[in-house]
Amino acid sequence: MAHQIFAERLKAAMADHRLKQADMVKAASELGGRLGKSQISQYVSGKTMPRADVVALLSQILGVDAAWLTGESDLPHAAAHEVADGSDLLAGMRASARHEAASPRSTAAQQPAHDRHDIKRSTYMREFKKSSKLDNVLYDVRGPITDEAARMEADGQRILKLNIGNTAPFGFRAPEEVIQDMRHQLTECEGYSEARGLFSARKAIMQYAQIKNIPNVSMDGIYTGNGVSELIQLCMNALLDNGDEILIPMPDYPLWSACAALAGGTPVHYVCDEQAEWNPDLADIESKITSRTKAIVIINPNNPTGALYPRELLEQIVEIARKHQLMIFSDEIYDRLVMDGLEHVSTASLAPDVPCVTFSGLSKSHMACGFRIGWMILSGNKNCMKDFIYGVNMLSNMRLCSNVPGQSIVQTALGGYQSVKSYVEPGGRVYEQRNFIYEALNEIDGVTAVKPKAAFYIFPKLDVKKFNITSDEQFALDLLHEKRILITRGGGFAWPEPDHFRIVFLPRMGVLRDAVRELADFLSTYRQA
Ligand code: PLP
Repeated sequence: MAHQIFAERLKAAMADHRLKQADMVKAASELGGRLGKSQISQYVSGKTMPRADVVALLSQILGVDAAWLTGESDLPHAAAHEVADGSDLLAGMRASARHEAASPRSTAAQQPAHDRHDIKRSTYMREFKKSSKLDNVLYDVRGPITDEAARMEADGQRILKLNIGNTAPFGFRAPEEVIQDMRHQLTECEGYSEARGLFSARKAIMQYAQIKNIPNVSMDGIYTGNGVSELIQLCMNALLDNGDEILIPMPDYPLWSACAALAGGTPVHYVCDEQAEWNPDLADIESKITSRTKAIVIINPNNPTGALYPRELLEQIVEIARKHQLMIFSDEIYDRLVMDGLEHVSTASLAPDVPCVTFSGLSKSHMACGFRIGWMILSGNKNCMKDFIYGVNMLSNMRLCSNVPGQSIVQTALGGYQSVKSYVEPGGRVYEQRNFIYEALNEIDGVTAVKPKAAFYIFPKLDVKKFNITSDEQFALDLLHEKRILITRGGGFAWPEPDHFRIVFLPRMGVLRDAVRELADFLSTYRQA
C-alpha cells in the first residue's frame, strides 16, 4: 500500500513538473546524488520503495516534502528551507520541459533569436572546481590582500599601491620613438609572425646578446614571448616531469615557483642571504641538490631584493651548475636598471659549456609592461638540450606566436639612445627614489633594509619582537585598513618568516614621502594582536 501511495505521488509530482524518468536521473546526478534508470522505474511502478536518502533526493528534485511522498503527511510542501535546494534545478528543468513540449522538433536555427536564448537544458549546474594542478601553486602578488584593496576601492577609498612593478601608473612612459614606431607599423602586424618571432626583432635581440657576451647564440635559439612571463611558463612545461626539482631563489619571484609547480615540478628554494646583500648562499644551493634536480633559476638583478650579483659569485653558481649538470635559467629582466655605476653581468656569458636560457624584455627597461614583449635566448651547450629545444619548439608553435605589435618595436627599443639610463643615474627618478626609500625606511624604529642596487623594489625587515608580528598577512591587512597602503607580504615571495615585505618605489617622491610617513606613524603604535 505504501508503495502504491509513493508511486502515485511520485508520478503526480513528476507530471506536475513535466519531468520524465530520464530527467530525474539527470537531475539527481546534477545534485550530486546517484539514481539509476531501473531504480526510478521501479519506484514509479510501485514495485519498491526507496531508502530514506533516496526519498530525500527525490523530494529535493521535485520540491515536495519527503513525508508527503512516503504518505506520512498530506502536505506536499513543507517549510521552504527544506525544499529550497532543488528549486533552481526545478526551474531549469521546467523551463526545459516547457520548451520541449511547445516545439518538440524545432531547432535553434528555426526559432526567432529572442527564443534561442531560452534554450537551456537546466539552470542548475554541477560545481566547476579549479584543477588540482593548482593546489601547489602560490601566487600572492595579486592575492587576497589585493582583493581586499580592490573591495575598499570599490567602496570609494583611495589606496596607495606599492605592490606591483607596473611602471605606467606612476608616470613612467615608454620612449616616444618606440610608440611612434609601433603606430607606424601597426597595419603590418595584423598577421601571425613566425612562431619564434619576427626576424627583425630576433636579429636585434641577437645583437643585444653579443653586447652581453653571450656565446653560441643563433637566430634559431631566440624566442619572443608575451612578456618573460609566458616564456617562463613555456620553459617549465618543456623541461619538468612530475617530481623533477628546480632550484629557485628565496625570496622568489613567485611566477617561477608557480610555473614550476604547475608543470608538475617541485620548486626547491635556496636562500638569498640578507646579511650578504641578499646574494645567493652557495652552500645552501649545494646542500639542496638531489638526483632529481634539473635546473637552477637565477634572478639577477633581483626582484624583490634589488640585489645585483657580482661576477665572481655568478662564476661560482655556474661552477655548481657545471658540477651537478644543471640547466641555468637566468632571469635578467632588470639588467638595464642598474645603479651606482655597477655593471650587469649576464650569467650565460660565464657559461659557454653549460645549457643556458637567458630571459629579458622591454617591460621594465622601456617602461612598456603593457606591450607584453619579452624574449629568451638559448646559449652555451646546446647539444645536451636538443630534446628540451624540441619541446620548446612544440610549445612555441602551439601558441602560434607572441604579440606582433610588441615584437615590431624591439629593434627600435634596443638600438640607439637608451632613455632608461637617465632614470638610474644620479638625479634620475629611480635613483633618487631608491635613495630616499632606503634611507627613510632605515630611519623607522624596528625597520631595516638592504640598499637595492638595481630594479625598483626594496625588501625591508621588520623587528617581529618589537611589533609582536606572527603573521605577515595580518600586518599587510592592518596597514591596508589603517593607512590604505598596499604592500606585498614576504610570504608572497616564499619567504618563510613573517618579518619581511616588499615595497615598489616607483611612485613620485612626494607620494613616497607621504607613504613612508604614514608607515612610520602606523608602526609607532603597532603591536599585532
Ligand atoms: N621576471 C621578473 C623577475 C619580474 O619581476 C617580472 C615582472 O615583474 C617578470 C619576470 C615578468 O616580466 P614580463 O612583463 O616580461 O612578463
